Formats: sequence, C-alpha cells, structure tokens
Amino acid sequence: EPFSEKLRVPEALTFDDVLLRPKESRVEPDDADTASRVSTSVELSVPVLSAAMDTVTESELAIAMARRGGLGVLHQNMDVEETVAEVDRVKRADELVIREVVTASPDQTVREVDAMMEEEGVSGAPVVSGDDEVLGIISATDIRPYLEVGDRDEVREAMTDEVITAPEDVDARNALELMYEHKIERVPIVDDGNHLTGLVTMQGILQRREYDSAARDEEGRLRVGVAVGPFESERATAVDAAGADVLFIDCAHAHNRNVIESAREIEESVEADVVVGNVGTREAAEALVGFADGIKVGIGPGSICTTRVVTGTGMPQITAVAQVADVASEHDIPVIADGGIRYSGDAIKAIAAGADAVMLGSYFAGTDEAPGRVVTMNGKRYKQYRGMGSVGAMQSGGGERYLKDTDEDEDYVPEGVEAATPYKGSVESELFQLVGGMKSGMGYVGAETIPEFKRRSEFVRVSAAGQTEGHAHDVVITDEAPNYSPDS
Ligand code: 5GP
Repeated sequence: EPFSEKLRVPEALTFDDVLLRPKESRVEPDDADTASRVSTSVELSVPVLSAAMDTVTESELAIAMARRGGLGVLHQNMDVEETVAEVDRVKRADELVIREVVTASPDQTVREVDAMMEEEGVSGAPVVSGDDEVLGIISATDIRPYLEVGDRDEVREAMTDEVITAPEDVDARNALELMYEHKIERVPIVDDGNHLTGLVTMQGILQRREYDSAARDEEGRLRVGVAVGPFESERATAVDAAGADVLFIDCAHAHNRNVIESAREIEESVEADVVVGNVGTREAAEALVGFADGIKVGIGPGSICTTRVVTGTGMPQITAVAQVADVASEHDIPVIADGGIRYSGDAIKAIAAGADAVMLGSYFAGTDEAPGRVVTMNGKRYKQYRGMGSVGAMQSGGGERYLKDTDEDEDYVPEGVEAATPYKGSVESELFQLVGGMKSGMGYVGAETIPEFKRRSEFVRVSAAGQTEGHAHDVVITDEAPNYSPDS
C-alpha cells in the first residue's frame, strides 16, 4: 500500500472541538441525578475520581472524595505496607463501629485516665478487665467530681457500672435509639461473653449522617480505589485483603499483551473490582472486555503529560472515549475518562461521549486535601503538581508506569512534567462547582439521569472562532469566578 494512503487520516476530536447541543428540557439542574458506575459493581452518586498521582490522592483526599460521593484512587508511589495503611485510614474514617477503642482499667487512678483521654482526644472510655470483659464505662463527667476531691481515686469507684452495650450486628438506627433512651453518647459493642469488640459513638453516627450521599461499601465504610502496577500482584493481593474496593491497573499503554495477561491474572485473584487502563482505541477495548470490570481511557490528554510530544503518539480524548465506549457498552462495562478535564463542561462532555465516570488530576492537585504544601510565587499561591512519568516522580518510585524496567541507573525518558497549580482551598467547593456544572449541562440537554443523558446528548462541532466565542472574550475579568480561569 502506498505510504501516501496513510495520510488519508481519520479525524479525532477533543473537548474543545465539540459542544453539547441544547435541547428542550423539563429538568432543573438541581433535579439532575449524577449517579453512575465506576466499575461493574461499584456505584457512585458523584461519578468523579481523583487521579492516582503522588501530588493528588492519598488517604486525606480519598476520604474527602468518598464522603461527597466520589472516589479517590491512591497512587502507587509508596511501598505496599504504606499503601495498606492508607487503605485502612480511608476504611476506618467513617466506620460505625470503632475498632481501636481507648479503654481504661479499673485500678487506674481517675487522674491517669483523665490524662489518657485528653491525650487520645476522647471524652469517655469503656473500663475492661485484663481479658477485655466490660466492667463499666467512664466519662469526663464521671471523673470531674473525683478530680476535685481526691485525684488518687480508682476508676472502679468513679465509673458507671451499669453499662448499656450492644451486640456486633447493631446498626446505626438501633445504636442511636439506645443512646437517646439512656441519654448516653457511646455504646460498647460486646460478644456473647461480654468482651469488648468495638465502640459506637453518637458523634460518629452524626458525622455519617452529614454525608448522606457518601460512597460506602456493604459494611458502611468509605470506598477507596488503589492504583496497582500491571505486574504488582503483591500490592494487588495486599490492598484487596485490606478492603480496597476497586483496583486500577495503572499503565500508560495497557494495550500490551504482557500487561493484559498479568492484569487478567490479578483480576482472577482478587475480590475487588479491577479497572484496566489506559487505552484509547476500539481494539484495545476489545482486548479488555473479556475480563476487566471497567476500562480507563486516556493516551496523552493529561495537563502534565508530554506523551504526545515525546512519543508522537496519542488519541484526542473525546474520540478515544467514544471509541472505547462503543465496545465497552456492548459488554456493559463502565468507562472512565482520565485526563485533560479542565472545566465541568469537559467532564460532562466526556460523559456524553460515552464515559460513565471521569478522573481528574490537576483539578484536585491544588486543594488542601492533596499532599504537598502551598508555595507563593509572584504573590500567588500554588501547590506542586507533577506527572507520574516526570523525572521527579520516577526518581521517587513512580516509574513503573512509564519505564520498561526500573533499573536505578537508567536514564529516564520522561513523559510528564513537574509543575505548580493554583492553590484552591478545600476540595468540597471544587467538587461542588464541578458537579454543579455537570448537572447544569444535564439540564440543558433535558436529561435527569446519567444513562438518559448519555442517550439523549448530541454534539456539535466547534470552529476556532466558536471556541473563542465560548470563552470570556473582549472583556477584562475583574473578579475571579470560582469555576473559571481563562488560562487553566
Ligand atoms: P489531568 O487531570 O491533570 O489533565 O490529568 C491527570 C491524568 O494524567 C492522570 O490520571 C494520568 O492518567 C495522567 N498522567 C499522570 N501523570 C502522567 C505523566 O507523567 N505522563 C502522562 N502521559 N500522563 C500522566
């Protein structure tokens, strides 16, 4: 075939090339429901994921994301033990039953217990015998009068010995009823022999109520995703055992036989759902639909990513998402659009192109909950944000994704840069803007749910002039909008 035939090229489009066509609507943005899936068995009320990058997602952001209905994906630039500890932190954050209970023993003095409670930040403690049998419960209120008169008194005198306890299978409603009925704030959980196995607190229950659309597993714990290198079966097994909900087999080019073979083995050996990525074509999707529980799309769209200029390879993201979704939707496998999303409008366009959920890095890197400190340059505040294929990230262990082998002396050929991103404050307001914009997009198209939106939405093509028209133009912006910066 003549080479010149290669130049009859198909067109591939990205976010700025298209807009959603407005349609007749009866849907108010507030009524739009963003519930969707990230993998075959994990649903989210907010289909937004924070990227598995060492300047974006550790447990702090993962907790904040899950509480608000999204999902954080822990990065893999830490050793397996630390990753397991991070998974644990997320899983324990909003647990109904606290497992690491601060306890007192009957022969401690009230003064000792007072100091201990202060140090641990609790205001009460079950009193247990050597073998964890519950003998009583003591609170700051019980202690106070004793401290006044004789601070050497023993706990056994100050404690309340008629303890209201509950069995292991108590739920939040029952626990709360017990608390109201007996005017108490904590209920020890005990086994058949009255041995302490946990503690439920009023504060814990109320906190869980505040996050009523949180992403939770069957046990009511927050959900969390974890990035795993394609050949890291050890990390996969460990985080699966720790209760991770979704593993993300994280590879710059997952359409690779060795990667696929290994990902399939990992999928077969774990309980968690396994999302595989990244890919950007129909054929790649076909190679994954046989076993993956979700497919992640993105070859080079990321803000800190230089894959396209370094390797000459890539796929504009809207076309990549649509091609993968063509194949994945036939097998009912969710698709995640990863990278390149700057505005809420990009996120909802990705969903119109066939994605079920979106993943963002730069959007969240500037928040308080992302790792790293705030720096000031020219009077403006920033946080560090770097590609996982940047020299810095690879040197601290993130090379797995971009290197053929991680030999220490090897010179890197980076596919990402190290950068700074504007500081944004709490992730709560960022997510609010993102989801709010997405819901408004659903309103313009007249769709109340994500599946309906995916069916109903249509694109129009935008010219260069149209793109200029779409941004703020011919004005000097005087006040910053919370969801728009012209050069982001
Ligand atoms: P952003 O939301 O900042 O545009 O893109 C984030 C995504 O970029 C990540 O989820 C990941 O898929 C991708 N990514 C992260 N680091 C690198 C990198 O160093 N090189 C490339 N090619 N992509 C990266």
